[in-house]
Amino acid sequence: MDFKNSEKLYKKGQKHLVGAVNSPVRAFASVGGNPLFIKKAKGTKITDVDGNDYIDLVLSYGPMILGHRHKKVEKAIKKALKNGYTFGASTKNEIKLAKIVCDAFPGMDKVRFVNSGTEAVLSALRLARAYTGNDKIIKFSGCYHGHSDALLVAAGSGLATLSLPGSKGVPEGAVKNTLIANYNDLESVKAHFEKHDDIAGVIIEPIAGNMGVVLPQGNFLKDLKTYLETKNALLIVDEVMTGFRSKFGGAQELLGVEADITCLGKVIGGGFPVGAYGARNEIMEMVSPLGAMYQAGTLSGNPIAMAAGIATLTELKKQNPYQKFDEVAARLEQVLKEKANKHGVDIVVNRFGSMINPFFTKGVVTNFEEAQQSDTKKFATFFWALVKNGIFLPPSQFEAWFLSSALSEKDLQKTEKAIDLAMEAVV
Ligand code: PLP
Repeated sequence: MDFKNSEKLYKKGQKHLVGAVNSPVRAFASVGGNPLFIKKAKGTKITDVDGNDYIDLVLSYGPMILGHRHKKVEKAIKKALKNGYTFGASTKNEIKLAKIVCDAFPGMDKVRFVNSGTEAVLSALRLARAYTGNDKIIKFSGCYHGHSDALLVAAGSGLATLSLPGSKGVPEGAVKNTLIANYNDLESVKAHFEKHDDIAGVIIEPIAGNMGVVLPQGNFLKDLKTYLETKNALLIVDEVMTGFRSKFGGAQELLGVEADITCLGKVIGGGFPVGAYGARNEIMEMVSPLGAMYQAGTLSGNPIAMAAGIATLTELKKQNPYQKFDEVAARLEQVLKEKANKHGVDIVVNRFGSMINPFFTKGVVTNFEEAQQSDTKKFATFFWALVKNGIFLPPSQFEAWFLSSALSEKDLQKTEKAIDLAMEAVV
């Protein structure tokens, strides 16, 4: 396998693109080597510009849950394209997608579509502040909620990958209302409430995927919600990654917790730029034009994205792949552990639904600090061995691997074989 064309493009791309990428994690900074340039993808396969085929466990960091270019999604996109691309006025499909989304989340009477997860979350924070009249927000260390100023502190994803505690260029004032708590540690949340009486709410990834996969332990989420009710503060559940992926009704359905405000993205756009935030009527009625919390967007509710989203969610509901996801992830967990054991490598495997990843460490990983104990050098070796054996996975220890419903028995067997070879390489 060679990467000559990727290498050429990487060199060429540096001239007019920062690091030759448009999102930092794509630069392979923490695994070293040349980032791959992709030519095309179909089903479970992704193909780079050198003609190398991989089984895709990145899925564009989550959206492509049905696999690439699903027939029904593609048909819907082609049909929508014929009517025009964007109108700056409402369309029937926005109402249709809104109904599918609200029906899936019991705590959501109304939804507002935006263009990314970042926009969904920053709007949700503004809404929580407008509704409660309070300014402070608590976030958890290691959770990533997009790149808005207020949330670029102790964040996972690319910041964890690049070992950045925050971002330059974020004014002190923008983060002075952001308080940090530890994932799975309710006491660290309570400590903030004991000090401050102006907390609007707490934002959380219900299943963290941006410090690698980290699960809420026991009743952490339920207890958090119960506690917040006693403080009149809102629970903002960021399901940008987990919405329609953990279960049709997101992680909330599985964990039996209802958010005050839910953020969505990724899967609901079927591969096109979409985000959304939603809540019960009394909260959403604060949003302009019904209320005075302003939020807008030239391309929001884009017709092509709405068509792709409707087709994706309709097909997902029909396939109901959630049991299969669990079985496939359980099988991968077992293979990862077996092969690690065979080659004497210490790993911890965390998984939830169609999200899974191994950490190269011992014991348990239940928060960011534990995730950071992982041996990222071993991860880098493991990563490249998997790539060279035909598996495309996120180039970072602190990202989840994603499964699609299109994965076949043959794909799984190939993945298992590659894992065996990659664990051997790690030793
Ligand atoms: N929230 C979560 C949980 C995410 O995983 C992400 C992106 O990975 C975001 C928000 C930001 O979404 P976007 O990259 O679409 O702005």
